Amino acid sequence: MTKVNVPDIGDFKDVEVIDVLVKPGDEIALETPLVTLETEKATMDVPSSAAGVVKSISLKKGDRVSKGSLILEVEAAGAAAPAPAPAPAAKETKAAAPAPAKEEEDVPFTDTIVREQRAKAAAANAPAAAPTPAKDTSGGTYDFDMVVLGAGPGGYTAAFRAADLGMKVALVERWPQLGGVCLNVGCIPSKALLHAAKVIEEAHEMESFGVTFGKPQIDAVKLKGWKEKVVSKLTGGLGILAKQRKVEVIRGIGKFVSPHEMQIANTDMTPLSTVLSKGENAPGEGARKISFKHCIIAAGSEVVRLPGVPDDPRIIDSTGALELDLPKRMLVVGGGIIGLEMACVYDALGTKVSVVELTDGLIPGCDRDLVRPLEKRIGKRYEKIMVKTKVTKIEALKEGIRVTFEGEQAIEPQMYDKVLIAVGRSPNGKKIGAEAAGVVVNERGFIPVDKQMRTNVSHIFAIGDIVGQPMLAHKASHEGKLAAEVAHGEKRFFDARVIPSVAYTDPEIAWVGVTETEAKAKGIAFEKGSFPWSANARSLTLGRDDGMTKVLFDPATHRVIGGGIVGPNAGDLISELALAIEMNTDAADLGLTIHPHPTLSETVMFSAEAYEGTLTDLYVPKKA
Ligand code: FAD
Repeated sequence: MTKVNVPDIGDFKDVEVIDVLVKPGDEIALETPLVTLETEKATMDVPSSAAGVVKSISLKKGDRVSKGSLILEVEAAGAAAPAPAPAPAAKETKAAAPAPAKEEEDVPFTDTIVREQRAKAAAANAPAAAPTPAKDTSGGTYDFDMVVLGAGPGGYTAAFRAADLGMKVALVERWPQLGGVCLNVGCIPSKALLHAAKVIEEAHEMESFGVTFGKPQIDAVKLKGWKEKVVSKLTGGLGILAKQRKVEVIRGIGKFVSPHEMQIANTDMTPLSTVLSKGENAPGEGARKISFKHCIIAAGSEVVRLPGVPDDPRIIDSTGALELDLPKRMLVVGGGIIGLEMACVYDALGTKVSVVELTDGLIPGCDRDLVRPLEKRIGKRYEKIMVKTKVTKIEALKEGIRVTFEGEQAIEPQMYDKVLIAVGRSPNGKKIGAEAAGVVVNERGFIPVDKQMRTNVSHIFAIGDIVGQPMLAHKASHEGKLAAEVAHGEKRFFDARVIPSVAYTDPEIAWVGVTETEAKAKGIAFEKGSFPWSANARSLTLGRDDGMTKVLFDPATHRVIGGGIVGPNAGDLISELALAIEMNTDAADLGLTIHPHPTLSETVMFSAEAYEGTLTDLYVPKKA
């Protein structure tokens, strides 16, 4: 019988046991994590210094331990080795912060859930020779140190970072260009078109200031060509970056065939000439199997299709909407960010737009006061906006697409030239043969990961849309870097406090951290400083007075805990508040930081001053 004790854990004593990861009867290997300890600064798993069967456990959750405390006794299958020191996922410089609230539903950033799944999957799926698939016990060599599946913003970032860290990397992508949804059919093409929409609107608004441009002539083909030029500049740039880093780009559809192997099948989605001229693996060359030491799954998501909707070219998704075949009358089903951004483009280009949304407001999840200026603006411009209303039937008729509605604001069935369905995206977790690698995929297709982006199989990581909400490119790329660094052996974990959200509508809406709605629902104490853009000089010089900035503060510390901005360029401005939250900035810091004048960014400073009672740009009556 071998006793396993708490090893040297540095300067810490009386550290709390927050989880016991094994039970009597479990067969454990050297370095199997036994318990999780939590100090003020870090959580750490204590690995086993012996292999064998657990006979008894001397600790329970909540116990306090120090170096030498007995953890358990093992009927040894092998000789005991000196206890390896635990690998604390150290978080030295920032106070602990909860995982972003929005993550909770879809991303189980709790080690416990993942461990349970890891244990289950290891038992169910691991090949006999490697009972703990996490470990490279085969001692074999692999084709690659790292294979990244999917070349979206998560995948290419992960691949490039891994290569920069000295790993031999393959990037597997089924599409002809790198960049994933974001660069090819998401963030970038939509923003290119939104810029065109903005210029059209601004030109029109200048009329009332004495500058008239005349009615815009829209050449949709040319506009589409310009959008595609922007996209290909960026995706082409990624190809060059991959080459410079010696990342091998493999075209084709990748599927796991074992915990360390992936089969890449041919794909007919690539114009062969494009691929061949770049000298990369052509899709027609035949299937290829590659092996890897580590893998990062970055296979992203795809549009959700509504059941029962006819297959008709006049019924489109966001990718179809980017094709810019302009209809006279269009319905957008879904009042979320993607639907409203495309509505904004089509409205500016002359289409009569209507929007129908199932929940009680546009952009669910965003504070109502931030959405209101958008509602007001588009309420005047769009043909109809219906909330609390659902679409019950869509019929493809010769004369148009007939849509039937039901709900509080439902109208009579209507005929549209086009219907854009933008009701969300679903992860690709069930399409990559994850089961062959023993990777757990939940019923919705998401892959659960821990705070280091590890799946239940610890040499396989997952990042981006496929691990959960919010499905945003900047979250994916942050996670990509992190996963590559963890795979390389760096002691890092996901400790970003906040992930900003932006709707690039007109006006733009951006928010970060705790929202007012969330604070009220969860009983989070907050106080607020806000500033109307009607009193901001820069905003007025832009001919806009409908914006607003608000900052939420912790009443005890006056630190920034959240904020929201609505108005032109809100998406750029929100980063100041994200940084403020990450850096524990308080109201005085924000208010005393000299902001350039005249800028929209002053509204952040003014909001802090309003909260502090030092604002002079508006008269704010003193608090009683
Ligand atoms: P993806 O970008 O989805 O990339 C996954 C890649 O994996 C794809 O290239 C896919 O072809 C490949 N792949 C999948 N399965 C396989 C397989 N088996 N074999 C080989 N390759 C495979 N986010 C923002 O942050 N800001 C925005 O402004 C924004 N605007 C958007 C606008 C629209 C219209 C849409 C649709 C999305 C927008 N998003 C935006 C969301 C953003 O695009 C995604 O969050 C982001 O692309 C996710 O990155 P990812 O790396 O996880 O996956």
